[in-house]
Amino acid sequence: MEKQLEWTMHLDKSYYMNVYGDRVPVAFTHGKGIYLYSTEGRRYMDMLGGIAVNSVGHGNPRLVKAIAGQAKKMIHCSSLYYVPSQSELARTLAEKTFADRSFFCNSGAEANEAAIKLARAYFYKKGAPRAKIITALQSFHGRTLATVTATGQERFSKYFGPLPEGFVYVPYNDIEALKSAVDADTCAVMLELVQGESGVVPADPAYIKAARKICSEAGALLIFDEVQTGTGRTGTFFAYEQYEVTPDILTTAKGLAGGVPIGAMLATEDAAAAFEPGNHGTTFGGNPLASTAALAVIEEIEQKGLLKNARDIGSFLKKKLMQVQKKVGGVAEVRGMGLLIGIELSAPIAADVKQKLFDRGYLVGTCGDSVIRIAPPLIISKREAAAFASAFAEVMEVCNA
Ligand SMILES: *Cc1c(COP(=O)(O)O)cnc(C)c1O
Repeated sequence: MEKQLEWTMHLDKSYYMNVYGDRVPVAFTHGKGIYLYSTEGRRYMDMLGGIAVNSVGHGNPRLVKAIAGQAKKMIHCSSLYYVPSQSELARTLAEKTFADRSFFCNSGAEANEAAIKLARAYFYKKGAPRAKIITALQSFHGRTLATVTATGQERFSKYFGPLPEGFVYVPYNDIEALKSAVDADTCAVMLELVQGESGVVPADPAYIKAARKICSEAGALLIFDEVQTGTGRTGTFFAYEQYEVTPDILTTAKGLAGGVPIGAMLATEDAAAAFEPGNHGTTFGGNPLASTAALAVIEEIEQKGLLKNARDIGSFLKKKLMQVQKKVGGVAEVRGMGLLIGIELSAPIAADVKQKLFDRGYLVGTCGDSVIRIAPPLIISKREAAAFASAFAEVMEVCNA
């Protein structure tokens, strides 16, 4: 099967747009649980979960059955018609969260795009338009034109100007900076609760509480980008629950349908009312297949106690990794929430560590040069987590030698 990988790499290099550069030289044929199997017949423990997407693991029986069953009946019908699973999903999310209403799309960027539009519309409809949308430096909000602009890292937007106007950036976790940035022209403040792409940096609880207060006092909307932290990733259904602060608008995507593309924007009745017929829409968003998949994922999380598992295994794994920090060294910090964990290395050798883990059959991600990112399926067991920690210890020993 070596040939298949070579052929695929050749096709990719020849015909696919070169946006990913040299990928990890592997292709997978299938997965089961937290494992992926390569065309060469090797098994890898998937500690990245498709970047926090494979929430209930690969080949999850409940999810597979739901998708296959729905695909047989009907994959798609237009949102011109009522869609039972879409309405059920909206109700389920309303019951589980602060939100009253949902809108479904296909990705995190689209959910954020919708949130930006909704926030702007909110003030237009009040007859007092506000332009300013404040986001954090080092944030990541997506790849569309508005969301690369919202992203507080210039490298994502620098070739695409002119960019949409009105975006302002503040340092993350800096209450004073936020306070002085928010004014009477501020439409919304949009924040991640854990900055995922830039190194798994959680927000300080005091910062999020202050953000809520500052927004409320200025009459601005608070948007949480939970695209990555949603669907149980941090040990609660959404991370905001642990901050005891509710936003006006929340966006989510990645893990919500376990790998079937879906994005969601959730909002309070007050904020949601800014969208009226004709203001927004989508062809695919929340179609029968995607909505059914999301309902199955939520059911699986409930039936299997995966929120508790994410908390328990998350703290177990963090403890094990901190032991590596103490006993082996080479680790500056272990941080994160639940099963979204960043390991900051003491030296810029994340690529090397990732490669050495790969050689041993473990898949992880990196953020920049010195952070290892892990976001395994929420079904990971203690034994599997311990095996990963041992492999990581072994790799760090080699790197430190
Ligand atoms: C991944 C991510 C996005 C973008 O989601 P896509 O589905 O890739 O468009 C936006 N915000 C955050 C916090 C993310 O982690």
